[in-house]
Order: sequence, then structure tokens, then C-alpha cells
Amino acid sequence: MSLVEDFLTQDEELQIVEAIKQAEKATSGEIRVHIEKTASVAHSTRATEVFHLLKMDTTELQNGVLIYVAVEDHAFVILGDKGINDVVGATFWNSSKDIMRAHFKQGEFKEGLIAGIKNAGEQLQKYFPWQEDDIDELPNEISRGDLKN
Ligand code: CA
Ligand code: CA
Repeated sequence: MSLVEDFLTQDEELQIVEAIKQAEKATSGEIRVHIEKTASVAHSTRATEVFHLLKMDTTELQNGVLIYVAVEDHAFVILGDKGINDVVGATFWNSSKDIMRAHFKQGEFKEGLIAGIKNAGEQLQKYFPWQEDDIDELPNEISRGDLKN
């Protein structure tokens, strides 16, 4: 088994998907998690690439958020779409990142992701509240592996 498969058990993965569902009950923002082994370019560059490959730039309010994890590199990135960046400051994701980093350092990957998702959802809620006619624009399932163009 590779590190990517070992990173989360199936049950942990289900708990993370559930956390995304819960978070999206409070915000119109769409949260996704992508996990891969390693990146051959800067992690911020790779996260942007994955964001586009997952078509996360197609939401109506441009409020998709990608939590990108490169397992072997011990690196992660939280990347929000344009609609979010237009209304928040550069430090917007800092609290989500801090929470995730603290858990990851302890090897608590599931806890870190769930706490990060929860925090990101609460943050987004202020700017992008859930609305009556909300649709699930992006799948909540975790995406894995070396996505290519
Ligand atoms: Ca939605
Ligand atoms: Ca969704």
C-alpha cells in the first residue's frame, strides 16, 4: 500500500466526507479535499492546477475551496476561488491552516482535515451563507492521485 492509501482508512474518509456535507449545510461555499503522494512543482502551483482539473472554478459564486494534501511532502494548501479572494483578506485561511497543522504534527490526519473543513465552513458562512435554493455544485468525495490534464 502506498502512503496515499494509508493516509486515511475508509472509515476516516467517510467521516471527512460527512464533515464536508455538514460544513456545506451552513455555507454556499463548496469544499473539496484532494490527496496525492507528491508534487513536482511548488505546492501552491500544483493546488491551482488541481483546482482547475477538478473543475472547481465552475461554481456560480466562485466560492469553491480546495484542501490539497501532498502526503510524502508533508505539505498542504488551502486554496479558495476568486469569489472568496475578492471579499476576504490574505490571512483568511490562517486559522484553518493553524488548526490543521497542529493536528498533522501529531499524525492526526483525519482530525486535522475534519477540523480544517469545519473551520473553513464557519469562516465561509460569514461571506457566503447557505441559501434556500442551494445545490451541491461539487462532489463531497475525496479526490486522490496524480490528476493530469
Ligand atoms: Ca452548495
Ligand atoms: Ca459539495
